[in-house]
Amino acid sequence: MNPYWLEDEVPPRRQNRREGRVDVAIVGAGVTGCSAALRLAEAGRSVRVLDARAVAEGASGRNGGFALPGGATRYDVARETYGRERARALWRWTEDEVGVLAAVAGDAFRPVGSYRLAADEAERDEIHAEYEALREDGFGVEWLDDLPGGPLAGRFHGVIVHPSGGSIQPARFVRALAARAADAGAEFREHEPVADVATLDADDVIVATDGYGHGLVPELVDAIWPTRGQVIVSEPLDRVLYDRPHYARQGFDYWQQLPDGRVLLGGFRDVSILDELTDEEVTTPAIQASLERFMGELVGGLPRIGHRWAGIFGLTQDMLPLVGPVPGRDGLWVAGGYSGHGNVLGFACGRLVASAILGETSPQLELFDPARFAA
Ligand SMILES: Cc1cc2nc3c(=O)[nH]c(=O)nc-3n(C[C@H](O)[C@H](O)[C@H](O)COP(=O)(O)OP(=O)(O)OC[C@H]3O[C@@H](n4cnc5c(N)ncnc54)[C@H](O)[C@@H]3O)c2cc1C
Repeated sequence: MNPYWLEDEVPPRRQNRREGRVDVAIVGAGVTGCSAALRLAEAGRSVRVLDARAVAEGASGRNGGFALPGGATRYDVARETYGRERARALWRWTEDEVGVLAAVAGDAFRPVGSYRLAADEAERDEIHAEYEALREDGFGVEWLDDLPGGPLAGRFHGVIVHPSGGSIQPARFVRALAARAADAGAEFREHEPVADVATLDADDVIVATDGYGHGLVPELVDAIWPTRGQVIVSEPLDRVLYDRPHYARQGFDYWQQLPDGRVLLGGFRDVSILDELTDEEVTTPAIQASLERFMGELVGGLPRIGHRWAGIFGLTQDMLPLVGPVPGRDGLWVAGGYSGHGNVLGFACGRLVASAILGETSPQLELFDPARFAA
């Protein structure tokens, strides 16, 4: 298990040591926790971030590196489920957040857009409906009947070209966020597991553990399900086959070629979907074999695999995150449950939960209210 992203050099970070009570304690130093820390520290709040591991060593350093706007469902489905105006406002908000992310991420983010692919005729109908809904609501997507060239030409049944979003080196981005938050005064305590949030000496506590830390807040146990994802990365290739992130089969398969020529491929969770509802961070032979088989098709022969790993993300029943106060727990907040779509959403929701603590309101806070799962 060697997540490729975490091999990046760790940048220096100011070490702040605070004693005693703080305004806000944050459990989890992934994209959510670091983004919340930055927003709160810049607003003048004293902040302490605690993590059982080091910054970005959870899903934020183990993901597929897709930084896509939008939610975890198809846009046409989101319109039907939450209403057209709410869906449109949500998608617009995430597009704006991609802009904010890009300004912080520097060279960790490449704004190359993405391709959403239809693996068969049924999926073509689905993603074509999504394409039409996006166009109707003013989003600048395009439609192609096939991928332009490359080893997969002729294999797919339609493509949505998304011009916004792109590819992110997620560990580099989150470590940069943490460094900024530390510059603004936030304290980071790495390798400090939290067993009980009630022991944290803070006016407010944010639980930013997404798929990890299951059980830390008993009220959230049935609302956010830990789910495993697996990834492999090839050795560097000497030719460019994929110029942007690609995803197919409702996002079950996703791949991209990295700037150094390696091809990263993740997914195939549906090969043993129930086994993947777990927080056990290990790779499994069945899914690794499926990934290798498809990697062979992606590059025309199986290349050497240099990296493979698993990570855990938080899945919710309605595919919307939970952001806001935990019902019945004074001063306890949550931001998580991005359903595998947390690079942009996690960044945005970290800022959102921070803004809620600062007393601001927004339509997203209503949509993501954890109270919707309260018994
Ligand atoms: C294999 C895989 C591929 C993915 N691909 C993509 C993708 O391409 N695009 C995308 O947008 N999203 C993707 N995701 C989802 C995305 O990675 C996550 O949604 C996002 O990183 C969540 O960030 P976070 O900060 O909320 O949580 P995490 O980054 O998971 O951080 C949570 C942190 O909490 C800490 N923690 C947990 N419990 C405790 C405790 N009790 N005490 C102290 N610390 C604790 C953990 O150590 C961890 O560091 C993927 C996820 C996986 C696993």
